[in-house]
Amino acid sequence: MNLLVTGGAGFIGSNLIHYLLGDAADDYALSVSKLVNLDKLTYAGNPENLAPVEKDPRYHFAHGDITEADLVAKLLREHQIDGVLHLAAESHVDRSIDNPEEFIQTNVVGTYTLLEQFRKYLNELPADSEAESLSAATRRFLHVSTDEVYGSLGPDDPAFSETTPYSPNSPYSAAKAGSDHLARAYVHTYQLPVVTTNCSNNYGPYQFPEKLIPLMIQKVVKGEALPVYGDGSNVRDWLYVRDHCRGLTLAFLKGQVGEVYNIGGNCEMKNIDVVHGIIAAVQKLAPDCEGAKKSPEELISFVTDRPGHDRRYAIDCSKIETELNWSPLENFQSGLEKTVQWYLDNDAWIQSIESGSYQGQRLGTL
Ligand code: NAD
Repeated sequence: MNLLVTGGAGFIGSNLIHYLLGDAADDYALSVSKLVNLDKLTYAGNPENLAPVEKDPRYHFAHGDITEADLVAKLLREHQIDGVLHLAAESHVDRSIDNPEEFIQTNVVGTYTLLEQFRKYLNELPADSEAESLSAATRRFLHVSTDEVYGSLGPDDPAFSETTPYSPNSPYSAAKAGSDHLARAYVHTYQLPVVTTNCSNNYGPYQFPEKLIPLMIQKVVKGEALPVYGDGSNVRDWLYVRDHCRGLTLAFLKGQVGEVYNIGGNCEMKNIDVVHGIIAAVQKLAPDCEGAKKSPEELISFVTDRPGHDRRYAIDCSKIETELNWSPLENFQSGLEKTVQWYLDNDAWIQSIESGSYQGQRLGTL
C-alpha cells in the first residue's frame, strides 16, 4: 500500500510510522510500498522522531499544512495513495485554552480539507484501472480522535462507549468533536470509506515533554517540584502508545467503513497515583538522580486547577476487542517502566527540545 500519514512528526504519528514500516508487516501482513508523512512541523513536530526511518527508501517527508488543499491533492495523486491515516492536530488542552484559533484551523478546517481532497481523488480514479494498486473497496481514511469528545464522567458513570453522546468541554475537544462529525458526514453523504477511532491518554517514547508523564519524568530526574493540578484526583485512562498504534493499524486495515472504535487501556488512574508511579519508576531505574534523594511529599506541589478541568475519562473498548481482536499488550507498570527507560536513554532528544535546537528556536522551560 501507498500510505499518507498526517502529523507523523508528532508523538503518536512518529510511533505509528515506526510501527507501519516495522512490525506491522509481521503482525498484520501489511506491506507498505511508500509512506508519505505530511507534517507542518509545529512546535510539536520533531524531525528527530523519524531519524530511525529517514534512510528507509519507502519513507518520504512532505513539509506542509493539511489545510492547503492543493498540496494535499498533489500528494494524493503524485504518490497514488491507497490510504490516509490522519493524526495531524493541535493536541494540547492548555494551549487550546490560551489560543483556540489554531485548533479550529488545523483540527476542523484541516480535517475537512483532507476528507474533501480524498473524496475528489477517489472520484477521479477509474473504477477498473490496471494502474490502481487497490480496488476502491479497500481504500481507507483513518480518522484518529480522542475520548475527550465525550466530555467528563461522574465517579460512578459507565465508561464512554461508541454511542455516548458528544459533550466536549475544551476548545481542543470541541475542535476534535467537529472533525469527528465531519468524518461521519463524509461517510453518510458521500460514502467515503472512513473509519474513526477515539482513544484515551497515550504515553511512551517521543512524547513532547509538556504532557503529564514526560514532564514529570524530567522533573523527578532533576529533583524539581512536580506541579499537580487541583488535588490530583482527576481520573484518566492510560494506554501505551505502541498498543494504540497496533489498534490504529488494525482499525485501518480491518475496521468497518463508517464505524467508530474506542481504544483504551482498561487502566483508569487518578493523576496523583500516576505521579506516584512515575516517582517510583524513576527512583528505581535512575537511583542516582536528584529526585531519588527526595520523598514523594517533598517533590509533589499542588497547583491551581486548569479551568473547566474534566474530572474523569474512562473508555469501554470492548467493541475493538471483540470485533477486531485487539487488546493492549502492556499494563501501566510495564509501559511506564519502558517509557521512563526511554527518556533516561534519550537525554540528547530532551536536550534538543529544551534548547529549541530541534526547530532552531528556544521554547523556554518545559
Ligand atoms: P502531537 O501534538 O504530538 O503531534 C501533532 C503533529 O501534527 C505534529 O507533528 C505537528 O507538527 C503536526 N501538525 C499540527 N498542525 C498541523 C497542520 N496544520 N498540518 C500538518 N501537520 C500539523 O499529537 P499526538 O499526541 O501525537 O496526537 C496525534 C493525534 O492523536 C491527534 O489527532 C490527537 O487528537 C489524537 N489523540 C492523542 C492522544 C494523546 O494522548 N496524545 C490521545 C487520543 C487521541
